[in-house]
Amino acid sequence: MAQKPTKSPNPTKRSTSDPRRSMNLERVLETLRVDGPSSQAGLARRTGLSAATINAIVRDLKDQGAAEIRPLNGREGVVTLIAGSGLFIAVEIAERSIHGVVYSFDRRLRVSDEVHDDSDLEAALRLIRSLVSKVGAELAEVDGIAIAMQAPVEKATGAITSWCNSRMPGWAGVPLRESFQSALGVHVIVDNDANLAALAEWTWGVGRGVDDFLYVRSSGGVGGGLVIDGSIYRGGNGMAGDMGHVALEGTGEVCYCGSRGCLTTLVSERAIVNAVRTSPGAKRTLSEVIVAARKGDAACQRVLAEAGDYLGRALANAAKVMAPSVIAVGGELGGAGPLVFDGLLSSIELSNIRAGSSSPQFVPGILGPDAALLGAVAAILTESGKGMSELEPWMTDSRLAMVPFPAALAV
Ligand SMILES: [Zn+2]
Repeated sequence: MAQKPTKSPNPTKRSTSDPRRSMNLERVLETLRVDGPSSQAGLARRTGLSAATINAIVRDLKDQGAAEIRPLNGREGVVTLIAGSGLFIAVEIAERSIHGVVYSFDRRLRVSDEVHDDSDLEAALRLIRSLVSKVGAELAEVDGIAIAMQAPVEKATGAITSWCNSRMPGWAGVPLRESFQSALGVHVIVDNDANLAALAEWTWGVGRGVDDFLYVRSSGGVGGGLVIDGSIYRGGNGMAGDMGHVALEGTGEVCYCGSRGCLTTLVSERAIVNAVRTSPGAKRTLSEVIVAARKGDAACQRVLAEAGDYLGRALANAAKVMAPSVIAVGGELGGAGPLVFDGLLSSIELSNIRAGSSSPQFVPGILGPDAALLGAVAAILTESGKGMSELEPWMTDSRLAMVPFPAALAV
């Protein structure tokens, strides 16, 4: 079957033919995406561009509807990137379920749908088509799709890494991007879910304005993403920052990756639920363990504190190698607060991380369960040459309470 033509992902870049101008525009966009709204003087300072150049770029962005000037303290306005239009789809693919969300920026509308007990290409394509029809649109109107895989995606093959094949058999050997693009005729981005969650926390969450940021996502599975020198770092094989398979216990359980005692075997949902199996009252999910611990269940409290300790040990080792300024824990364990963070911070303390120069800050992620989906939106916006300096309330599931911004938990 001939591949359908895909829409150009990058209208803003395409409209700029002068390479120097295009580079300057990219610098301004990057600053507004990563650091948030800024005055024109601030933009000139941070990009090193002249006031006249900044003025011309901001005028163009305003004319295209990609930015607006918002007043600040009744004085100088700040330039804010806005996504006033576009129809984007974010899809999160797990072992046995698929969650998709369509974001209509024209209508400020978020519609979601889920598939349970099924996870393969056909199920994902059905979900995407159903989401498009739910908002009364056609596939041809979709401006971008981003897929968040709950598995590392290999750079060389574009498929999930082979040691995840038995965990996600429906996706074994599937060249992800090409398969979605040829079936849908829409530009598709594929990335690991934790990489995308890291991108969201870096763009709109606890990592904003930080050039060196490590994020670990711990819920059903355990993954991570890494920002080095102001960009997501994927490494040679595309899997850098994946904290889930850092080996901590030489005599621990064998992991599905083939190693032994990985962080995944110690703090994933399966490991935690399994650890409390003999305590009264069956717990089937990590959420149930967290709720029971909050109500005073001593066994659940113990297991979560131990999970914090393991996370702390893994993160302390990573911090010594990479020296990030901020380390965030997302996913359900990040949202468990002191139940996990007390154990985490005491194992960080024991690791004597203060021996390095400045200590990193350890913080919970603030974007909640939507983090990977929002990262998918951030990835599409970036590839489209667009951006949003501020997350808008309609973009998150109103049923999910956002974690309040925490005081930084420095050690
Ligand atoms: Zn492993």
